[in-house]
Amino acid sequence: MTTCLGIESTAHTFSCSIVDEESILSDVRSVYKPPEGSGIHPREASRHHADESAAVLRDALATAGVRMSDVDVIAYSAGPGLGPCLRVGAVVARCLSSYHAKPLVPVNHAVGHIELGIRLTGARDPLVLLVSGGHCMILLFSGRRWRVIGETLDITPGQLLDQFGRELGFASPCGAKIEELASRSSRYIRLPYTVKGNDVSYSGLLTAAKKALEGNRVEDVCYSLQETAFAMLTEATERALAFSRKEELMVVGGVAANRRLADMLATICNRQGARLHVVPIKYAGDCGAQIACTGLPAYKAGISVEPSRAFVRQSWRIDSTDVPWRGDGTYKERAADLID
Ligand code: AMP
Ligand code: MG
Repeated sequence: MTTCLGIESTAHTFSCSIVDEESILSDVRSVYKPPEGSGIHPREASRHHADESAAVLRDALATAGVRMSDVDVIAYSAGPGLGPCLRVGAVVARCLSSYHAKPLVPVNHAVGHIELGIRLTGARDPLVLLVSGGHCMILLFSGRRWRVIGETLDITPGQLLDQFGRELGFASPCGAKIEELASRSSRYIRLPYTVKGNDVSYSGLLTAAKKALEGNRVEDVCYSLQETAFAMLTEATERALAFSRKEELMVVGGVAANRRLADMLATICNRQGARLHVVPIKYAGDCGAQIACTGLPAYKAGISVEPSRAFVRQSWRIDSTDVPWRGDGTYKERAADLID
């Protein structure tokens, strides 16, 4: 059995998790909370991560019942994310790797969301919808990489909800609060719906939703914002399902916690004859488990970096990241299918 420590620090969350091939032994998180009405301040968040890192690591080891000497591999999220936050995780990982002479594995955070989702839902060969604070992509695996076949042209659904929530005076993240407010309404106010090809655009919707707060009930605007934003995603995802002929759809990322989105996706899965996998709510947002569950197969596939060369990349696209451990026949056949 191989034991992997995963360290996550791309944005608001500093988290450490210990996993092996069979289970998630621990997943401990400390989340930076900005003042009410504001978003993440990268320098303040990185200060939070630096302050919390030792306690989070200690707790993760204790909960898993292992010592650093029992850990075989150390994985850290190398990007994409906020530079100051990423650097804290990378420095912690680099120090642990050097001091304890353990191999070090850089992990793409978006691949981490997907790997954890696959481990928890048992999906085999899914089309993936990754929707979170930092991501909005529809992804298809082909030729050793996740290929982006639809994405946002501007802000992500998480940013849309968080920026709208801040307008209401909430502190980020606001998705759950908006979901709760939206559940109290069924009155739709017309808002801009923008799908271009298989991409979505949310900035016009955000501006219009803020304007709609004048003269309308907050609950009605929250409801209309969710309905519009999720219908756009669902339309693009249904087209991707029909095109790819995938038999599974997996939704991961913080916004996957939203029940209304899951309901809409269930409707298109029924229509397209696909099975829907939704990542369990506890593991929808950023966490160390996503990094550990990716670091483990990555290490076994031969991926590692010298501690002195440990890097961070603020804009590390998923479609420029090799995923060699996921290259089985099923995927190749499917890719060939698409070319025919
Ligand atoms: P992540 O970046 O993966 O940690 O996801 C965080 C994002 O998920 C934030 O933008 C949150 O507002 C959003 N989020 C969390 N819970 C919900 C929810 N129930 N509905 C919609 N968005 C949510
Ligand atoms: Mg994330």
